[in-house]
Amino acid sequence: MTTIVENGRFGAFGGRYVPETLIPALDALAAAFERAIADLAFTREVDEMLSTYVGRPTPLSTAPRLSEAVGAEVYLKREDLNHTGSHKINNTVAQAVLAKRMGKRRIIAETGAGQHGVAAATVCARFGLECVVYMGEEDIRRQTLNVYRMRLLDAKVVPVTSGTRTLKDETSEAIRDWVTNVNDSYYLIGSVVGPSPYPRMVREFQSVIGKEARGQMLAAAGRLPAAVVACVGGGSNAIGIFHAFESDAEVRLIGVEAAGRGFESGEHSASLLKGTPGVLHGSYSYLLQDADGQVHPAHSISAGLDYPGVGPEHAFLKDSGRASYVAVTDDEALEGFRLLSRLEGIIPALETAHAIAWVAKNKETWAADDAVLICVSGRGDKDMAQVTELGLLDR
Ligand SMILES: *Cc1c(COP(=O)(O)O)cnc(C)c1O
Repeated sequence: MTTIVENGRFGAFGGRYVPETLIPALDALAAAFERAIADLAFTREVDEMLSTYVGRPTPLSTAPRLSEAVGAEVYLKREDLNHTGSHKINNTVAQAVLAKRMGKRRIIAETGAGQHGVAAATVCARFGLECVVYMGEEDIRRQTLNVYRMRLLDAKVVPVTSGTRTLKDETSEAIRDWVTNVNDSYYLIGSVVGPSPYPRMVREFQSVIGKEARGQMLAAAGRLPAAVVACVGGGSNAIGIFHAFESDAEVRLIGVEAAGRGFESGEHSASLLKGTPGVLHGSYSYLLQDADGQVHPAHSISAGLDYPGVGPEHAFLKDSGRASYVAVTDDEALEGFRLLSRLEGIIPALETAHAIAWVAKNKETWAADDAVLICVSGRGDKDMAQVTELGLLDR
């Protein structure tokens, strides 16, 4: 089954719900993107950057001790080994090359965990582009180290003080900046969210994860995985690894959302499981909202999953039944964090820890000869201060 994209929509989801001033900019971006991916010079420049700067292809690791604990054959796609420590840079490299081609000198980005901000600041330094990153005060507090990294890379980090001071508000501020400076600025979105063409474009740039992983699975395991599991914030690492397996009907695609303090508490980020369709940041998809359409603040222990919306393609994959979505709580994610660290010597990002935790706590799901492919979206160095503060090491 393939995803239907028509007029920038995935079934009923997606589209463009933006101020009229942005329509010409989105048209120009869509046209430049289509031209670029059909142009060998563009794909060569991106591939060259991915191999000599980002460090691709990333390895597929076996996970013998985790496999034993889970009762299935677990494989890890190691996006944590990318330059800057997560999958985010796959997308920022490609969009920065596109921005350069479009003659834009100023890059605007929003960031939650700071991973996208760091990845954007990094490629801007590499290409000599000006970089402005909107980051909420709450996230600045949770992710201080990433703020220092962005400043060292010469990006301007603008604190966002509105709303919950997390990803929803950061994105709103970035869009406001773009509306004002649309002629010389390029808005570099960090996930498969936002108005068309962003969701499709970011999928295109992240689908390298699944393309590599599918080939590596066939080479290492001699078969396709029974399931591909990835955490879902906006949904870019999940779409990135799912996309290559979408037509393999026998492969289950499982997205893991953040159940935060538990669904009963109302403090979570599970937009697909607990949200309803609506418009956020220019796109129609599932989101956390009340009966009047007011966006409900999200919560997750991991800043990268702390977003009340989700990419429209996930909404489509959920409704079509091709992918299924599950959730784990903050506490379970912390267990996943500890588990991968202690069993495999890999300290995952707290976002990734959600995917690990779900696979580990649902042992009954797996047959012994099932291969389970998990996307390790990032490394956990950025989360060490937070995790230590929470007392995880004393448990
Ligand atoms: C940003 C981030 C995520 C969540 O974003 P997606 O777009 O859902 O992938 C997950 N893991 C890490 C390490 C991140 O930095």
